[in-house]
Amino acid sequence: MEPAVLVINAGSSSVKYQLVDPGTGHSYARGFVERIGLDGGLLHHTVDGTTHDRQVDVPDHTTAVALVSRAFATHGPDLGGVDLLAVGHRVVHGGDDFADPALITQEVLAAVERLVPLAPLHNPGNLQGIRATQEQFPDVPQVAVFDTAFHQTMPPAASTYAVPRSWREEHKVRRYGFHGTSHAYVSRRAAALLGRPLEEVASVILHLGNGASATAVDGGRSVDTSMGLTPLEGLVMGTRPGDVDPGLAGHLADRAGLSAEDFDRALSKESGLLALAGSADMRQVQELRAAGDPDAALALEVVVHRLLHYVGAYAAVLGRLDALVFTAGIGENDAELREAVVARLGGFGLELDPAANTEGSGERRISTAASRVAVLVVPTNEEWEIARQVAQVVSGG
Ligand code: ADP
Repeated sequence: MEPAVLVINAGSSSVKYQLVDPGTGHSYARGFVERIGLDGGLLHHTVDGTTHDRQVDVPDHTTAVALVSRAFATHGPDLGGVDLLAVGHRVVHGGDDFADPALITQEVLAAVERLVPLAPLHNPGNLQGIRATQEQFPDVPQVAVFDTAFHQTMPPAASTYAVPRSWREEHKVRRYGFHGTSHAYVSRRAAALLGRPLEEVASVILHLGNGASATAVDGGRSVDTSMGLTPLEGLVMGTRPGDVDPGLAGHLADRAGLSAEDFDRALSKESGLLALAGSADMRQVQELRAAGDPDAALALEVVVHRLLHYVGAYAAVLGRLDALVFTAGIGENDAELREAVVARLGGFGLELDPAANTEGSGERRISTAASRVAVLVVPTNEEWEIARQVAQVVSGG
């Protein structure tokens, strides 16, 4: 077996994992533990196309990672027989401390801890996962790969909010951006698909999953992205509204007596597709629309309108555009949504190839040969990107 990286994505109540060959992206095994600290803990381990499920109490992350290790020993591949280069951890917020992946040391852990106020829902779970993995695999190097890192190349013009100095300086209020690992991977694959050096290509990447973000990538560097201080800004998402008037907070505090907590919950969990169409799941929203539901139809119009805003803005920010790239659950699978977006961009020289859009699969070009801007679908692979970056860190390259 080739060298492998164990990629861990730990949340507050779950641990997802995958054993990946960093050279080819081949996945040897994958799985997840869910309901950590809750009733009804579950482990799923998938290897060679077979999923092994187990119901088991998982009081904490240490138990979860021990269960993962045991699942490998029982169902394979045995980690004792693998050339395990490192464990790679997805960490959501690296603030402006991390523009690159980092070998985990006490200092790195302290920095991730200091960043908890910027990502209170994510960084604590990431830290618990790291500590548990260090206990389980004390002799294996551990590397953190940050979701914000790719966007650290944004110029101040794009990352600065025009808000009071004290907010910016004391509270680190600025635009950070997220989904960086996906945008890095997809923009590199897009250049490869075009057969051009990454350094030359200007692209707009639309990562459309439950969370969604757009990024303007110039020569492999993020120059603007739609998520900001938090993952709420930008595109319309499953349960988040994306851009709203910041005046909403004061207005609703006055009119409806909403606290900061109420407001936060409504914007994180009760907005987006869910608020407009009654479902946060795009497949269901498309089904409702096809059945004539007017709320679902409006929801899709709002989604497409916001996407057009960002594509137009980012084409202007880049000053040119070689590729518009769709990725993640909706971007990869929803041909109708891609059609609705690209159809409105005909005046800018984008022309969809309907057959490639609806019938193809995997990485591909879905625009005609005559289209001035290539339109691409690139399935994202964050685990491979994490494994690749981790292998570079531990090999010193
Ligand atoms: P996450 O952000 O949780 O990783 P995914 O990237 O898996 O999310 O994307 C989930 C979204 O993709 C859901 O809204 C789901 O309905 C949508 N999706 C998946 N397949 C399709 C499809 N064939 N058509 C439309 N939407 C789809």
